[in-house]
Amino acid sequence: MVTTDPSLRSATRRRIILFPTPFQGHINPMLQLANILHTHGFQITIIHAKFNAPNPSNHPHFSFKPINDGFAEIADQLATNQDATYFRKYLNKSCEDPFRDCLAGLLAEPGQDPVACLITDAAFYFAQAVADELKLPRMVLRTSNLGCVLAYDWKNRSGSEWNLGSSQYSRSSSEMQWLPRHYEPFFEVSSASPSYRWKINKRCRRWLKTLICRRIGSTFPDSDYEASVPEFPLVKFKDIAKITTNPHGMGEFVTNMFTQMRASSGIIWNTFKELEESDLETISKDFPVPSFTLGPFHEYFPATSSSLIEQDRTILSWLDKQAPKSVVYVSFGSGARITESEFQEVAHGLSNINFPFVWVVRPGTVAGSEWLESLPENFVEGMGERGRIVKWSPQHEVLAHPATGCFWTHNGWNSTLESICEGVPMICSPCYADQPINARNVSDVWKIGVFLEDGFERTGIEMAIKRVMMDKEGEEIRERISCLKEKVKLSLDEGSSHAKGDLKDIQVRERILS
Ligand code: UDP
Repeated sequence: MVTTDPSLRSATRRRIILFPTPFQGHINPMLQLANILHTHGFQITIIHAKFNAPNPSNHPHFSFKPINDGFAEIADQLATNQDATYFRKYLNKSCEDPFRDCLAGLLAEPGQDPVACLITDAAFYFAQAVADELKLPRMVLRTSNLGCVLAYDWKNRSGSEWNLGSSQYSRSSSEMQWLPRHYEPFFEVSSASPSYRWKINKRCRRWLKTLICRRIGSTFPDSDYEASVPEFPLVKFKDIAKITTNPHGMGEFVTNMFTQMRASSGIIWNTFKELEESDLETISKDFPVPSFTLGPFHEYFPATSSSLIEQDRTILSWLDKQAPKSVVYVSFGSGARITESEFQEVAHGLSNINFPFVWVVRPGTVAGSEWLESLPENFVEGMGERGRIVKWSPQHEVLAHPATGCFWTHNGWNSTLESICEGVPMICSPCYADQPINARNVSDVWKIGVFLEDGFERTGIEMAIKRVMMDKEGEEIRERISCLKEKVKLSLDEGSSHAKGDLKDIQVRERILS
């Protein structure tokens, strides 16, 4: 927790208005940031969508202003549509007028402290024009890491020719295209079959070859699926299928978001300098507005109070009974979905290992099922006391528990950061958006986890868990992630990171007020 600095409290109190996008992985860091700013003397108002609204009674020190988001009209598509940018683009349109009205009303409220600035999620790119219109500085919170934004911003930094495996193609993409057009077949994979998102199997490869051949008159050698994408060297060709089902939509979304980030008064990142030192300089050049790496936010304020689903705390006493570093913790976050057969493979994989496990099965995780109906017969009886299945966990506490030995994760950025901060090695099963990029960083760059390359298959799952929990490789991974954990602790204790440094030295405050 941040301790309140009286010198800050004595200064004139100013108001900050924050506006999160209504998704768990975005609400958590925004409310954590709000708490950090509140502790440093700011009054906090949260404007929020009615969809996935935060619970005001968990934050009695903030005031909340709901706006009509129009989301109810498309909310039922969440269960079937895996195109994350579709929902974000929709909200950028549907929230614009209600947000402007709400903000204008707040600014005109009599007898209130003046508003110092607006902080919105970077994904709410429409808010820059509203802030300009109302003459209010807007800062953005970008809830991903720096490396991921640099990867998405490849167009800004690349030349004009791209490679597709061994062949060369000239630039043909429109401004709104995220990756060159000839990569489209890779994107289309995950809309063709949900399983192709997790695994490019033989059938999928055949299908891709036909598509690529039809589009650009060339084939794609099998070996190249494992190759790095030239414009995007961190990810492999086979990862592209996971990133989006809609490259045009994503191109437009990313272009709008980055344009408005560059027009903002500054960018706040939930990451820490020691993890991404080399990218910090590039980010400052690519986004020539002040950047603040203030994370990891959850080290100051846990996400418990902003959880949209009730956390099952009974697993904590169960964890108390397990041996140190013996438990496999499995959770794929708030949005990832798997098919029934993949779900069964996960269950078989967990049955076949001897380690205790906690498995978060969020209702809706399995396409077409309410909750656990698709579990293999006798799974629960066979699991006995060795495993626990819950709908939602107090994840931060599970990861911090001495019994937790590894985290099988979808690599949402919050989950990845939480695992790093607790020194828990990861098994990576990314699903969409920035997750494959985070996962490649974890497995190939920071080397603090293993990538479950071939989707959900029981033998692959068993092998990955054994690699992390039993093998020498796992020991080395544990050592590396423990070092990173120490770096986080040191940076927080000594105030050496931008996070504590900026907060202590009031740079953020000065920046916001200037
Ligand atoms: N989380 C939780 N309980 C769970 C699973 C996740 O409290 O059982 C929290 C987790 O600690 C993290 C957030 O939900 O703060 C998920 O965010 P992330 O960026 O990892 O993934 P997303 O849900 O956005 O895909």
